[in-house]
Amino acid sequence: MNGRVYNFSAGPSMLPVDVMEDVAKNLLNYNGCGQSVMEMSHRSKEFAQIRNDAEADLREIMHIPDNYKVLFLQGGGTLQFAMVPLNLMTGTGKADYVNTGTWAKKAAAEAKKFGDVKIAASSEESVFSYIPKLKKEDFRADADYVHITFNNTIYGTHYSYIPDTGDTTLVCDMSSCILSEEIDVTKFGLIYAGAQKNVGPAGVTIVIVREDLLGKCDASKIPTYLDYKIHADNDSLYNTPNCFGIYVAGAVFKKIKAMGGIAEMSRRDIEKADKLYAYIDSSKLYKCPVKAKEDRSLMNVVFVTGNPDLDKKFVAEAKAEGLVNLNGHRSIGGMRASIYNAMPMEGVDALIDFMKRFEADNI
Ligand SMILES: *Cc1c(COP(=O)(O)O)cnc(C)c1O
Repeated sequence: MNGRVYNFSAGPSMLPVDVMEDVAKNLLNYNGCGQSVMEMSHRSKEFAQIRNDAEADLREIMHIPDNYKVLFLQGGGTLQFAMVPLNLMTGTGKADYVNTGTWAKKAAAEAKKFGDVKIAASSEESVFSYIPKLKKEDFRADADYVHITFNNTIYGTHYSYIPDTGDTTLVCDMSSCILSEEIDVTKFGLIYAGAQKNVGPAGVTIVIVREDLLGKCDASKIPTYLDYKIHADNDSLYNTPNCFGIYVAGAVFKKIKAMGGIAEMSRRDIEKADKLYAYIDSSKLYKCPVKAKEDRSLMNVVFVTGNPDLDKKFVAEAKAEGLVNLNGHRSIGGMRASIYNAMPMEGVDALIDFMKRFEADNI
């Protein structure tokens, strides 16, 4: 495959080859308009079409209702850690966070700068190896919102259910699982996701926000860029957006639509993950620290040998075979195979084949 490797990076991560080939074909002269999307005015009619299509296609594949706004912002998931409290922690000034890993913890720490944050539940005592079973009573009834991290990229866990928060707005970080499964958007007040894991190149952040949550902050007090309403009122064109990133993300949405939508992506993702977990569970050498099957991530498959030196050898030997970025996050070590939508089954098969040979040689 023209010198390309199977890239198991957690993000930025693989993109569909046919999307990149199409982008390459149109790089100097987009659709015959004589310019690259990189050179185009964000106010041009060509770019308006690109942005409008990207929004319409995302609405279609995610079944996003009309009373939600779709925003294409910058600043990654990290800026959302601040934008969420700045915009929504504006009633009682209280928000409840569920601590299921590094990103969840960072989100809560950022929110603490702006108000009263309570950790409603945590799996930290067990190195984030499971997702807590949350009940409505776990949350303060007067919280402005509850924040969860749907897929925990570093620890390889994922919610198998949407917590019941009663009348309290549910905010969800879907950075590493958006577009991998059908979700009921109406259960959430706000969903955000950085693009570089399962959508497109780094530099675009998708925010899906219910209209009644806009304008709840004092616009005279917060930086203009950080006010969701500004972006909602201006179709994400208040200032210059990441035009090229939105274009590539839009091409990915079109591809998903053509492939049969998110239901089809989900079917493939389950098939890939099931195969890899089944092999790990059957092997003598590898172990997945996430024991409860329903808590296991379909996107980030974490495993260890139990011997950090052997883990390092695994990562190095896999790399030599064109299976790259299999090291776990620098904070926890071990291995992590990120198998987002763009990872073909052939990549998972090649990984399992390598794992079998490595096991035979090292047990
Ligand atoms: C990667 C990641 C982030 C951070 O995203 P940036 O775009 O790098 O700011 C936040 N949340 C989750 C779940 C992630 O996986």
